[in-house]
Amino acid sequence: MITSGTMRRHAARASLAVGFMCSFATAGLASDTLSRGSLPDVARAFEDAALRVNDWQPAEPVRWTRPIFLAIADGGGMRALAPEIEASVRQMAAIARISVTRVDANDPRRNFVVRQADPGGRAACRAGIYSQAGHITSVEVEIWLGGRGSVSRCINHEVLHGFGFRSHAHAAASILSYKQTRQTDLSAVDRVMLETLYDPRLRPGMNVASATSTACSVIAEKLRVPARDAGAFCGGREPAGRQVSALSGRGRSREHQQ
Ligand SMILES: [Zn+2]
Repeated sequence: MITSGTMRRHAARASLAVGFMCSFATAGLASDTLSRGSLPDVARAFEDAALRVNDWQPAEPVRWTRPIFLAIADGGGMRALAPEIEASVRQMAAIARISVTRVDANDPRRNFVVRQADPGGRAACRAGIYSQAGHITSVEVEIWLGGRGSVSRCINHEVLHGFGFRSHAHAAASILSYKQTRQTDLSAVDRVMLETLYDPRLRPGMNVASATSTACSVIAEKLRVPARDAGAFCGGREPAGRQVSALSGRGRSREHQQ
C-alpha cells in the first residue's frame, strides 16, 4: 500500500494518483499463443487493465510521454535485484519507445522509483502511478521480498503497472492477472497491450469511449484481423464504464485510489 502521506505529498502536483497493492493467489498459466481469434480476449484485457483504475472505475488512458529517470533504492536486498529491475524497466520502455536513464536514488530528476516494501508492513508488492491529463508524472514501486512467490513476477507485474496499466487483466493470459501466478515475464498479450497503449493513435487523456474503439482497432491490426471483421467487432465495443456495476464490488479491498 502506498501510504496516504506519500499520496498527499504527490497529490499537490498530480491530478490523479493511483496506488496498487497486488496479491497473487491461485495457480495457473494459460496459453500465450495469439491469433486473429484472440481479438475479443485481448481487447477485453486492454480495457480491463488500461481503461480502468483499481479494477473497476473507467478511466482515460495514461502513459509516459517524457523520459524515465529510474532510481532503485539500495536498502535490504535491493542491490542484488537492481540489474533485474533495470532490465524490466528497459524491456518495457523499449516496447513503449520511452528513453530510460538510471540515476542515483537521491537524484532530483528521478521519476520512476523502486524500493523494498517495508518488511514490517503488509506482505504485498505495490505500485503508485501519478499522472496529469493523461501524462504519467511519476511512479513508485515497492518490491516485497519476504514472500514465497516469485520476485521476478512481482517486479514485472508492478513495473508494467508503472507504464500506465492502472488495473488488472484477470481474465487474460497476462502478468497482470492474479490467476497467472506461474507467469514471471511479459506474455504475448502483455506485449500487445503495451504496444497498443503507446500507439500514436491512442492519445493520453482521450475519453474512454474513443480509447476503447481505437485500442480495439489497433489490437485488431496487430493480430492481422481483416479490416471488415475488425470494424464490425471494434465498432460495437462499449466503454469499460458500461460494466462498472458488475465489477464495483471487486478490487477495492486490496487497492485504493486517491
Ligand atoms: Zn497489480
